Amino acid sequence: MSDEQIRVALPDGTVLEVPRGSTVGDVAARIGPGLAKAALASVVDGETRDLMYRLETDAAVRVLTERDPEALSVMRHSAAHVLATAVRLERPGAGIGFGPAIDEGFYYDFEVDEPFTPDDLARFEKRIEEIVAEDQAFERRVVGQEEARELFSDDPLKLERLDEFPDDEVITVYRNGPFLDLCRGPHVPSTGRLGRVKLLSTAGAYWRGDERRQMLQRIYGTSFFRQAELDEHLERLEEARKRDHRVLGRELDLYSTDPRVGSGLVLWHPKGAILRMEIENYERELILRHGYDLVYTPHLMSERIFEISGHLENFAENMYGPVEVEGTRYRPKPMNCPGHITIFQTQHRSYRDLPIRMAEFGTVYRYERSGVLHGMLRVRGFTQDDAHVFCTPEQVAGEIDRLIDLVDEMLETFGYPYTVELSTKPDKALGSDEQWAEAERTLAGVLEGRGMAYEIDAGGGAFYGPKLDFKLIDAIGRMWQGPTVQLDFNLPERFELEYIGDDNQPHRPVMLHRVLVGSMERFVGGLVEHYAGAFPVWLAPEQVRVLPVSEHWVDSAAELVESLKEEGIRASLHDRETLSHRIRDAELHKVPYMGVVGEREAEAGTVAVRRRGSGRKQVTMDRADFVRHVSEEAESRAIEETH
Ligand SMILES: [Zn+2]
Ligand SMILES: [Zn+2]
Repeated sequence: MSDEQIRVALPDGTVLEVPRGSTVGDVAARIGPGLAKAALASVVDGETRDLMYRLETDAAVRVLTERDPEALSVMRHSAAHVLATAVRLERPGAGIGFGPAIDEGFYYDFEVDEPFTPDDLARFEKRIEEIVAEDQAFERRVVGQEEARELFSDDPLKLERLDEFPDDEVITVYRNGPFLDLCRGPHVPSTGRLGRVKLLSTAGAYWRGDERRQMLQRIYGTSFFRQAELDEHLERLEEARKRDHRVLGRELDLYSTDPRVGSGLVLWHPKGAILRMEIENYERELILRHGYDLVYTPHLMSERIFEISGHLENFAENMYGPVEVEGTRYRPKPMNCPGHITIFQTQHRSYRDLPIRMAEFGTVYRYERSGVLHGMLRVRGFTQDDAHVFCTPEQVAGEIDRLIDLVDEMLETFGYPYTVELSTKPDKALGSDEQWAEAERTLAGVLEGRGMAYEIDAGGGAFYGPKLDFKLIDAIGRMWQGPTVQLDFNLPERFELEYIGDDNQPHRPVMLHRVLVGSMERFVGGLVEHYAGAFPVWLAPEQVRVLPVSEHWVDSAAELVESLKEEGIRASLHDRETLSHRIRDAELHKVPYMGVVGEREAEAGTVAVRRRGSGRKQVTMDRADFVRHVSEEAESRAIEETH
């Protein structure tokens, strides 16, 4: 092989010899003209790259086309640049911040005097169309720090970014048409390759997410390679908008926040509290049946414990500051583990005592920047349904298996299908390779033993152990963070946990952290959106609303309410305003059952029942039958159709 040739390994196992310095685009052309035409970007030795990327050494190369998921985020990042190009055409003075691709699209942050209006967005979209039609090439160039400062001398935000680069940083800029950006890339070859772009909304966003810095104007957009995919996405956004838990939370009177109390701190109203109580009651019953013990631990703990746990060292930026009492500094707890470990250590533990499964609805406090707070989903104080399992290494597989039983039962109750992801050893990790390999094998073995499909997030584990993440799929197909189980090689070491084995020698137990709902706040916020506020009977804050046809039948209706309440059913009497108004109101509040009582029903001891979502359809039932029916539906925790 001559010195000028390098070897390029393709995904199908073939190896091409190409001249050193060839671009990935050249490689695509060697493979075939069809691929060269469809190519958008590439993956070279695991890194996403442009097609113009030059290959200087042997490499593994995968050419990306529309069909590869990685191509979508490359294209969306290019769309963000085109958006900035458009904004600069309309508002030449706009300062430019960051413009990344995100899960569902992209955004770009601008420093402008006037916030953007919907009319602005329409104008920018038109400009984007023109720029796409012009098919401007994306050109990458490596520049020195000095030249970069020159190029962005009018852009204070970019200059600030440049200041932070270490001396050895390879600084790259990308140009398309008139627009130049400080950017790592990669990008698609030209603006003509963007697909369908739609601008969605604008919002204020602090520079660097820091509320002490200036407020920028963020424009969110999305793009897809096909119109049909874009249409489908927009429809889903519309559906999500109608289900927004912040809107429904207010309409259904579930929760609020108040600046006087503090951002990200949730006030649960009576109806929200019922929802939470039902979930907690259900889960308590479930985990006691699955062999857990319940504990309670304090909200404030001495800093001493967080020194031992390493939280002060590794997690301090997420913790609230100390409160000093009698010379000791206390912190609101960010996690429940230290408390549970302390309980474990109050006794000598033998292998016969293990596994010990300790559970708590533990309220924790974590600092989150105000810019990322979002309704109940992202908050600063939340209650975790947290548990820690202390077991022997041999018991890990059994414990994981038992946990998946629990997850299965719970998610079926709430009507969530789910997927599983196994996160493996990251570059920086505690514990030996063998320890990790065995733990990962154990987790994978349990999943495989159950015939469960799972994805691997290679290198995605925490530094202290591998984990399983369960992702919920909601009624409109969105993914939510669900149960997790995390193996921990770290805390048992730091706290020097021990149990006495059957060899009479001390051993380190394995520790599992697990949550099912995770944050109660986020879970309930998610449930509101999953059910669109129309909760199944067992969760509904108000299960039956009884409506007398006129004032003559109020007494008879009140008797029905009493007999419902006697069976523990949440029922109420509504007798003001016209019947049609009251029916409409019960529908608005998504009450599962209306019981209408008029002359016929009062005389016969019956009730005309309207089921939520059945329109004007009424079924006359014997009252005792109706009470039994509702009570059975609640007790069985049945999920009805949520549409
Ligand atoms: Zn960029
Ligand atoms: Zn924990």
